[in-house]
Order: sequence, then C-alpha cells, then structure tokens
Amino acid sequence: MNTSPCTYDYLVVGAGLFGTVFAQQAYAAGKKVLVVDKRPHVGGNVYTEEQAGIQVHRYGAHIFHTNDEGVWQYITRFATFNRFTNSPVANYRGELYSLPFNMYTFNKMWGVTTPQQAAEKIEQQRAEAGITTPQNLEEQAISLVGRDIYEKLIKGYTEKQWGRPCTELPAFIIKRLPVRLTYDNNYFNALHQGIPTGGYTAMVQRMLHGIQVRTGVDYLEHRAELNSLAKKVVYTGPVDAYFRYSLGTLQYRSVRFETELLDIPNYQGVAAMNYTDAETPWTRIIEHKHFEFGTQPQTVISRECSSEWHPGDEPYYPVNDARNAALYAKYRELAAAEPRTIFGGRLAEYRYYDMDAVIRSALDSAAKELSHHIPTA
Ligand code: FAD
Ligand code: UDP
Repeated sequence: MNTSPCTYDYLVVGAGLFGTVFAQQAYAAGKKVLVVDKRPHVGGNVYTEEQAGIQVHRYGAHIFHTNDEGVWQYITRFATFNRFTNSPVANYRGELYSLPFNMYTFNKMWGVTTPQQAAEKIEQQRAEAGITTPQNLEEQAISLVGRDIYEKLIKGYTEKQWGRPCTELPAFIIKRLPVRLTYDNNYFNALHQGIPTGGYTAMVQRMLHGIQVRTGVDYLEHRAELNSLAKKVVYTGPVDAYFRYSLGTLQYRSVRFETELLDIPNYQGVAAMNYTDAETPWTRIIEHKHFEFGTQPQTVISRECSSEWHPGDEPYYPVNDARNAALYAKYRELAAAEPRTIFGGRLAEYRYYDMDAVIRSALDSAAKELSHHIPTA
C-alpha cells in the first residue's frame, strides 16, 4: 500500500468522453482530479479541429444521438446542439440509394411504391433464401431487407469495414441499422440528435474547465510515478495494454483517414456518402461542413479506409467475435481484481459504445464511486 500523501483523489487516464465525464463529476463533487492523455489534445475520438473555418472530425464522423433524457440534460449543460439529422447516401457503383433502409431505398431498388409491395418483395427474397433463424450477419441482413439490398448495400461495405466475410460476422452488427416501411430517412431512432455548435473539442474543454489536464503523457510509460500521485485511477485505455498483454492481444479494426481541403464549396452535397461496393478502397467519404450547414468557399473531405489493427495503430472498433469475447472476459476478471483502478469506456471495456452510452456509463460509474466517498465539508 502506498503510504505517501497523494496529491489527487483521482488520476483519470484518457480525456475521451468517459474520462472527461468522470473527471467533471468528481471535480464537481469536490475531488482533486488529474487527467492525462497520450494524445496532444483532449476529446479522445470525438476531437474536432478547425480547418478553413470548418470543424473537422479528426477521428471519424461523430453524430450525437440519444433517447436518454438524463444524458441529454447533462450534455446540453456544456454545448448547444444544432439540428443536424444524419441521412447518409449509399453509392453503389454510381447508383445512389437513401439510408437507412426505407421506402426511398426500396423504390429505387425495386420500383415499388407502397409499403405492402416493399414488404412482399423482402418476404419473397427471404423465403427464397430459406432462412429461418439467422446465424450470421449475411443471413440476418437477407432476413431483414432481402438479397438485392444485401448484395448492393451491405455485403461490400461490411466486408471492407470488418475485413471478414459476412458469413463469419455476428448478426447483431447489422441490427444497429433501422429498416423502415416509411419515407423517413433519419439514420437514428433517437429523440435528440445533433452536432455541438462550435465542435466537440470546445464542449469537452468546457467540461474539463478548472481541472488539471496533461496531454502528451502516456500513462503506461510512467505508471509508477503517476500512480503515486493519486488515490485511485480511472483507466480508459485498452484493457489488454494495461495488463501488458499478459493473456494475449485483443483484436481491433483501425481506420485511416485521408483528409483533403478542396477549393470548391460543395463536393458531395451530404455529410456522409457510403461506398458500398467491394472495389472502392474506402468505406465512406465525410464532407465535414455539412454537419454544420457550412457556407465556406472551400470544403474538407475525409476518405475512411478500414484496416486490421496492428500494435502502434489507433484501435477503433473492437472485433466482436467469439475469440475476442472470451479473451476479454478473462481480462475483465483481472480488471475486477484491481482494487485501485476503475476501468471504463470503449477501450477498457472492449465495447462498441455510442457516445451517449459512454456518457451514461461514466455518469453511473462516477455516481457509484462518489457515493462511497462523499466529500467532508
Ligand atoms: P476514447 O474517445 O477513445 O478516449 C480514450 C482516450 O484514452 C484517448 O484519448 C486515448 O488517447 C487515451 N489513452 C489511451 N491509452 C492511454 C494511455 N496509455 N495513456 C494516456 N492516455 C491514453 N458514437 C456516436 O454516438 N455517434 C457517432 O456518430 C459515432 N461515430 C463514430 C465513428 C468512429 C469512426 C468511431 C471509431 C466511433 C464512433 N462513435 C460514435 C463512438 C464514440 O467515438 C465513442 O463512444 C466515444 O468516443 C468513446 O469515448 P471513450 O472515452 O470511451 O474513448
Ligand atoms: N452497414 C452497411 N452498409 C452501410 C452502412 C452500414 O452494410 O451503408 C453495416 C456495416 O456492417 C456496419 C453496420 O451496418 O458495420 C453498422 O453501421 P453504422 O453506420 O452503425 O456503423 P458505425 O457508425 O459504427 O461505423
């Protein structure tokens, strides 16, 4: 046990949303908090940076959406959100389709004009495929939207995104996408949706107001020294790295962003265009200004290319297959046995977490933790 007096109650490793929310809650409860992040900035993956007057989402497009009233009330204390509604367009070899799967998509694919006709078409293709209980992503997709949409809008995109055949991927990945027999092309079934005015970085900076933050500091490289500064650690980095990969390496998908400033005001007319064929190397192109209805004379676009993660790359998406789930379960046992460390967020919990779910998880974790340590007056 460390008997030297600690300067801080909490050392928060990672200034992403989990770490930031936890730090904000602890600081508001009167705790002394130090936040460190190995990157040169705060915000984690929601970090945005201005280029040519446009807020650029450096680690991929982030659209905030939630049905959690508590999370919405919390986050709107730190930002106002604009009215952006995500309606991406799928580009299959130059044919454009509306996403998520809705009556505009079915009309373009099959020429159907009524919900009954669309439902019949899907049912016919499902029956032809003979699927009763979907066992993998391919079967799940065909059951949901039929073979034509699977072949043109799902198969190529998903196999590029995950680097694995759809027959080897879990069905739940595709269940994230709504299927609607209406002309509603809002990508999310959420009561609240938008982009924080002025970008995510400004929002995170407001959340961290008054809290000590050191960027460019890798906790794992200075573990002993940093541990000695605080009574407890909140760790939001990769769980396997924390345990020095002692049980093996968890797999991730990484993403490379090729960002370009173009001397035209409007490149693609929509914030996100998904390239759903197998041949185009990128999964999607993001045109950042459309998140904020920008009218600047130039535009910034990012092509997203998905790849297998290797040590040294940025880990983005956990690979949710049986091998990784089993390995993570073992790391979780090790994590539960660490008395001084709280593990949270998408890397430490190895979870495909949306922003609102990460905020909820951090609020709950902080409430549980701080209720044991009510500050003395
Ligand atoms: P992170 O943001 O990854 O923060 C972890 C932080 O820990 C990082 O800043 C990292 O540098 C730091 N760190 C790690 N190891 C160390 C170390 N050893 N020492 C010091 N610091 C360390 N969610 C949505 O709701 N809507 C979207 O549209 C959306 N789009 C997404 C698009 C992409 C491409 C991706 C990958 C995710 C998307 N998400 C979206 C999910 C969203 O990014 C996460 O829910 C959220 O950012 C997770 O926050 P976090 O704090 O858990 O992790
Ligand atoms: N997906 C697809 N075609 C698309 C968009 C998504 O097949 O045009 C599939 C793909 O498998 C992806 C999953 O749906 O991994 C979830 O999509 P979402 O947009 O939620 O992915 P994220 O925003 O997390 O990258």
